Amino acid sequence: RFEAITMAPPDPILGVSEAFKADNDEKKLNLGVGAYRTEELQPYVLDVVKKAENLMLERGENKEYLPIEGLAAFNKATAELLFGADSPVISEQRVATIQGLSGTGSLRLAAVLIERYFPGAKVLISSPTWGNHKNIFNDARVPWSEYRYYDPKTVGLDFEGMIEDIKAAPEGSFVLLHGCAHNPTGIDPTPEQWEKIADVIQEKNHIPFFDVAYQGFASGSLDQDAASVRLFAARGMEIFVAQSYSKNLGLYSERIGAINVVCSSSDTAARVKSQLKRIARPMYSNPPIHGARIVANVVGDPALFGEWKAEMEMMAGRIKGVRQKLYDSLTSKDKSGKDWSFILKQIGMFSFTGLNKIQSDNMTNKWHVYMTKDGRISLAGLNLAKCEYLADAIIDSYHN
Ligand code: PMP
Repeated sequence: RFEAITMAPPDPILGVSEAFKADNDEKKLNLGVGAYRTEELQPYVLDVVKKAENLMLERGENKEYLPIEGLAAFNKATAELLFGADSPVISEQRVATIQGLSGTGSLRLAAVLIERYFPGAKVLISSPTWGNHKNIFNDARVPWSEYRYYDPKTVGLDFEGMIEDIKAAPEGSFVLLHGCAHNPTGIDPTPEQWEKIADVIQEKNHIPFFDVAYQGFASGSLDQDAASVRLFAARGMEIFVAQSYSKNLGLYSERIGAINVVCSSSDTAARVKSQLKRIARPMYSNPPIHGARIVANVVGDPALFGEWKAEMEMMAGRIKGVRQKLYDSLTSKDKSGKDWSFILKQIGMFSFTGLNKIQSDNMTNKWHVYMTKDGRISLAGLNLAKCEYLADAIIDSYHN
């Protein structure tokens, strides 16, 4: 019986780390998964996280089950961080927030809610997008299609294509948007473009569904990175927002995030919340407490909150530094006259190099640079010392 089970393919992102581990070459570089590394290319635990954990130990907090919806202090803090503490959606209690298993688990809760309450409704996802989005909607049996986003000719946003595709979708579709630092392209709409996107979504009675995995990591400012979501919220729209603390607090393995559903009334929000709990209960019963306490402690303590912002700026700053150095190295080494300025225009953890699958394979097979096959490299896994080597690898792969 079990003999009939076939081998599943390796995950396109996490599979890269597995291949990296198996490589014994000294020069190897893992630019696959989006995880922040120090200049020494070591994993980094934020000081504020250590401080919050010490506080938790001192208090001798217990390990009793959380309620299905998660830690109340976390849910309050996370919604306020996203919408702004003074937002009417908060004061009018129009947001249903429940703790999720990081960004992925929160997206999955929303996907199930869509499948249950909007049968047949389609989710529009950007082309390209983070690889797991398709898996999440497939497994939740939610139909999806793509809207144009990336224009290879300009290595920028295909704004007209995006608007056309959102307009052409059946009325009442869900439009998945990356709140900031679009993964994998690193290309975000401008504030004016966000306004137009909101116009079209409203015209078509679509429902915006934000995936916010990098708040504070794109610009270094939590508020600025939430501007897209707040712009939609200020229009009084109904919105989904999934949040993750994997990157901005470095809590990858704690699996801490949330799903927020902005509703038109507090009554509706209460009902939506009850349904989210009903979805969560048979899936995992209730979420883990450790990461939720860390977030609640950091956000709830003005001194720790200030320190967190400084550490986030430091991390975002280091990534900007390697981005600049990579651009400088490419520009000085490449004699072909190719314009590499797109690298500087992209934001967040990633750079979308434009390398195709064959060229990406060359990066790995010849240069031991591990990256996803869509040409994405994680600058968070790069340091200044390796920029020249990486530039050599990219130039060789492009031109051969
Ligand atoms: N959405 C996007 C766009 C992401 O890039 C990521 C992380 N790579 C996630 C969601 C979710 O990550 P996690 O489940 O660790 O929060």
